Amino acid sequence: MKLYLVPTPIGNLDDITLRAIKILQGVDTILAEDTRTSGVLLRHLSINKPLHSYHIFNEHQTVQRLVNQMKEGKTLALVSDAGTPGISDPGFLLVRECIKNDIPVECLPGPTAFVPALVNSGLPNDRFTFEGFLPHKKGRQTRLAELAGEERTMVFYESPHRLLKTLQQFTEVFGPERPASVSRELTKLFEENQRGPLSELIAYFAQKTIKGEIVICVQGKEPSRGKAKRVYENDADDNEDDGEDD
Ligand code: SAM
Repeated sequence: MKLYLVPTPIGNLDDITLRAIKILQGVDTILAEDTRTSGVLLRHLSINKPLHSYHIFNEHQTVQRLVNQMKEGKTLALVSDAGTPGISDPGFLLVRECIKNDIPVECLPGPTAFVPALVNSGLPNDRFTFEGFLPHKKGRQTRLAELAGEERTMVFYESPHRLLKTLQQFTEVFGPERPASVSRELTKLFEENQRGPLSELIAYFAQKTIKGEIVICVQGKEPSRGKAKRVYENDADDNEDDGEDD
């Protein structure tokens, strides 16, 4: 009785881990966001297991049935189309329901788009906030206004056809000089990481036909004077608890 969340490659098939393969070989059933997409990967790995669909449109209806299967002793693995299930992908509801029902849950470490994008960005990553997709319409301006004073680096997922509009809205909220990065097609043949002020990124992408999958990172607002400096290194002395709350 167990649920595994198994990350799958975000482009380069070599990024599947040895443990991910072992777990997928060992479970009773694999739940996939899109059985065709995951079928391609599983065939590539020569894994032949019952494959059932689990996506946002059937998530609510299927959770209880899946929980019952696990209570009967079955072990399931959830995969999404790419990356880590539950990260801007279905998974949260099932995990929550398993925890409520005392079913062990284990998420394997593995591919996800926001970590390489954040590290490639060269922006401070000692603290960051993962924002995923911004709301498309309702709530978008409110969310942006909430982020105006954010001091941590912000990480966003975006689709290619919204990239320019989003970067333009970012200049209105964060200013045109705010350092940012756009990572496109991570781990794929045409991977691209563009870094610079928002205004330069807009100028660059305005001349292009924008294709592929995209992560945007935006540096946070400079901390106001007197507030904690950014920490770039793990300095053992600084990390010792001296009992003082600074
Ligand atoms: N579960 C995935 C993860 O762990 O990153 C995210 C799934 S979400 C539905 C898809 C979004 O992730 C894309 O629109 C894009 O923003 C980002 N993404 C996924 N693969 C990517 C890649 N190879 N390069 C850049 N961004 C990627």
